[in-house]
Amino acid sequence: MTAAHSATLTTREECVAADASDPLAHYRDKFFIPADTIYLDGNSLGLMPKSAPERARLVIEQEWAQDHIGSWNKHGWFDRPVAIGAKIAQLLGGERGECVATDTTSINVFKALSSAIELQRATDPARKVIISERENFPTDLYITEGLISLLDRGYELRLIDSTAELETALGDDVAVALLTHVNYRTGEMWDVTAATAQVHTAGALVIWDLCHSAGAVPITLDASGADFAVGCTYKYLNGGPGSPAFIWVAEQHLRTATQPLSGWWGHAKPFDMALNYAAGDGARRFLVGTQPIISLSTMEEGLDIALSVDPAELRAKSLALTSLFIRLVESRLSHHPLTLITPRDDAARGSHVSFRHPEGYAVMQALIAHGVVGDYREPEVLRFGITPLYVGFADVWDTVETLRCVLDEELWRTPEFQQRGAVT
Ligand SMILES: *Cc1c(COP(=O)(O)O)cnc(C)c1O
Repeated sequence: MTAAHSATLTTREECVAADASDPLAHYRDKFFIPADTIYLDGNSLGLMPKSAPERARLVIEQEWAQDHIGSWNKHGWFDRPVAIGAKIAQLLGGERGECVATDTTSINVFKALSSAIELQRATDPARKVIISERENFPTDLYITEGLISLLDRGYELRLIDSTAELETALGDDVAVALLTHVNYRTGEMWDVTAATAQVHTAGALVIWDLCHSAGAVPITLDASGADFAVGCTYKYLNGGPGSPAFIWVAEQHLRTATQPLSGWWGHAKPFDMALNYAAGDGARRFLVGTQPIISLSTMEEGLDIALSVDPAELRAKSLALTSLFIRLVESRLSHHPLTLITPRDDAARGSHVSFRHPEGYAVMQALIAHGVVGDYREPEVLRFGITPLYVGFADVWDTVETLRCVLDEELWRTPEFQQRGAVT
């Protein structure tokens, strides 16, 4: 099923038939999906792989309980962030570079940005500008702010408002561009190869945040020439709440890149307990301290599923689903004030779709109460994550039908749907 093909689906029966012939349909069975739920929030917290509880049980009851401290060697705990990192590098087309699974994306942004700034300072210390996006996920900007103030060396943040502005923002004063591949709100996607080339032509380095793209869209880090990449594993990689993030370093920087959180896990010989820090090889030096082995292990279950999927097939299904969703909403709900903020152009769209609606928050609460779990983002944005591994064509049809009910019958007016929780 391709995006062009999905344009022929006009009834629920046709959507059911499309699911029946979908080569990825069997992946749905690998995940726990609560009854009567259409889960469209896999871009915020992916669903649990059915194999995760067994893996958790093994790590806790066998490795921890029975083999205790011996597990650091016996069960490969010590190498786990590097071993899983290698799998992530494979998934991201970045095997010439190196990756470790560790910490959070926020912390990894700090390390990657520090590292890129330091690499630039060694060759071109006059470059003091960090480019990022006004619409970036806030933590990327907050971390940048914090690092700039910590360094206290006159660095400044230059924000761009669109992908088209990158070109003009790039000057000989720019050290690093920190860009997010797929925008968390709109779903707009950069052309990584083209943007990386633009940044390099201007003499700067680029860090790609892949939070909303790893496991959802094809990524070829080596071929694109990227310098660093970071991202989380609890979204489309279905790694579990707060599962460790990743940081990837390109081949050309493996020997020279350093980072300031020089903890013992990044040391060349941690168990020498030496007085002074000596950076370990490659991406290992991006580790800081003792790793969360249980969540690393359960995360690997989601990652292994992602690695078993043909990325071209995944992308084709994702585009077929998102374009179907856009078309059905716009054709069937045109009498409601819904405004698409996601690109229609397939090449510029990740795997989620967002519409604005003046009552967005309450509309989403009503949808959730009726079994369609998406989420809400300021301002007025209804966000629908389309995880191609467990969302089907009939799900998209049923979502639009539920949304039609909520809007036609104004179910969102119910007072309880106006109450805001701490997490939206
Ligand atoms: C989800 C997301 C994050 C999350 O960062 P954490 O440190 O895991 O909380 C960061 N950046 C982007 C672009 C995201 O989408």
